[in-house]
Amino acid sequence: MATADALLRPDHATRRKHFIFNEEHEQLRESIHSFVVKELAPHAEEWEETTFPNWVFPRMGGLGFLGLSFPEEYGGQGGDYYCNLVRAEEMAHASCGGLAMGVAVHTDMATPPILLFGTEEQKQRYLVPSIRGEKISCLGITEPDAGSDVAGIKTRAVRDGDEWVINGSKTFITNGHRADYIVLVTKTDPDAGYDGFSLFVVDMDLPGVIREKKLEKLGMHASDTALLAFQDVRVPHDALLGQEGKGFYHIMWELQGERLIGAAGCVAGAQRLFDRTLEYATERSAFGRPIGKFQAIRHKFADMATKIEAGRQMVYTTAWRFHNGEYPVREISMAKLYTARMACEVADECLQIHGGAGYMKEYGIERAWRDLRLNRIGAGTDEIMLDVIGRSYGI
Ligand SMILES: Cc1cc2nc3c(=O)[nH]c(=O)nc-3n(C[C@H](O)[C@H](O)[C@H](O)COP(=O)(O)OP(=O)(O)OC[C@H]3O[C@@H](n4cnc5c(N)ncnc54)[C@H](O)[C@@H]3O)c2cc1C
Repeated sequence: MATADALLRPDHATRRKHFIFNEEHEQLRESIHSFVVKELAPHAEEWEETTFPNWVFPRMGGLGFLGLSFPEEYGGQGGDYYCNLVRAEEMAHASCGGLAMGVAVHTDMATPPILLFGTEEQKQRYLVPSIRGEKISCLGITEPDAGSDVAGIKTRAVRDGDEWVINGSKTFITNGHRADYIVLVTKTDPDAGYDGFSLFVVDMDLPGVIREKKLEKLGMHASDTALLAFQDVRVPHDALLGQEGKGFYHIMWELQGERLIGAAGCVAGAQRLFDRTLEYATERSAFGRPIGKFQAIRHKFADMATKIEAGRQMVYTTAWRFHNGEYPVREISMAKLYTARMACEVADECLQIHGGAGYMKEYGIERAWRDLRLNRIGAGTDEIMLDVIGRSYGI
């Protein structure tokens, strides 16, 4: 029986699982963690130079990690939405943002619309091999002239008998160079407003699909980012994904899952940086004491820990609502906005606490600082999140 004395002691060391997770989630967490630490993390520096290799997909597929929440009939594990959070969180232990992003584009962005909107034939043709890691996917929304303004895209799909002819271009496409297929957002009826968009699943080896160039970027170097052109690409009518004319609503649904998973990744990335920096602050001494013993540094940790915990609670509570059938767009936008900003602030403080070492490549802090910056832009910028939240109040 607990004594009053025991009850009154602060319990800082206990790591209790959050109520959304059960024992199965914790076992899953352990197995993904051990795979990530043993098989992915050792390559983080190498992949920064070369981009990560394609074998990661079949390896993860073989371990059952690519289809965690997909139905067993398609080769998935039949788990719940929280399993995807576990994967996003554990991928942070690879210390390789580009890798985590490339995998997340496949698991949490390009394939969920195929499960929700796809025909049985599309599921067999694309989802099943994607879950095995035999086909790699990418998602094409952004264009050179339209990013935040999704409705401003110009890529056109025009019906021609039993086929559609696609013309246009997409940019900043993660996995665009390695992908076997793309989930593509097009305009099918320019006069129909939001009802004039349609999604297609397009094989990347079709005539007219051109992978123009690999784009150089600030961070996420382990991922490949493509500029793509579509020149008179002919696809059969059954390449249409979901309802003709409803593509805008379909892709807005996809973005909610993408944002929530991104938010989970931000919290996990920030926590990982915090842990590594805490270790550094106990080892590094200045003026005769470990730097963590200076109140100024201690307060930085206190501030960071508080923000990370707030972000985590936002993500878990919002995920709980999502899992229970709600469509909490406002809260997802808040979680995305808050955790992206928070992760950038934490990365900056961690770099500061490392001093000059933080600026050096060998500590990996500068890489995380560069990688995390994307979160304030990708999947909807801070400004767009603020707009979605503000508009949700009717103003
Ligand atoms: C590394 C990387 C990977 C990516 N991967 C993919 C991918 O796989 N697939 C894909 O489709 N896209 C991808 N993107 C694109 C990403 O989603 C877009 O960059 C993002 O949505 C912003 O669009 P934009 O770059 O065109 O910026 P713009 O829309 O041109 O915005 C420029 C600035 O204007 C602001 N702004 C725009 N509209 C408003 C407004 N209404 N109110 C206030 N401010 C506004 C923005 O917030 C931003 O600060 C990726 C981007 C990067 C950098």
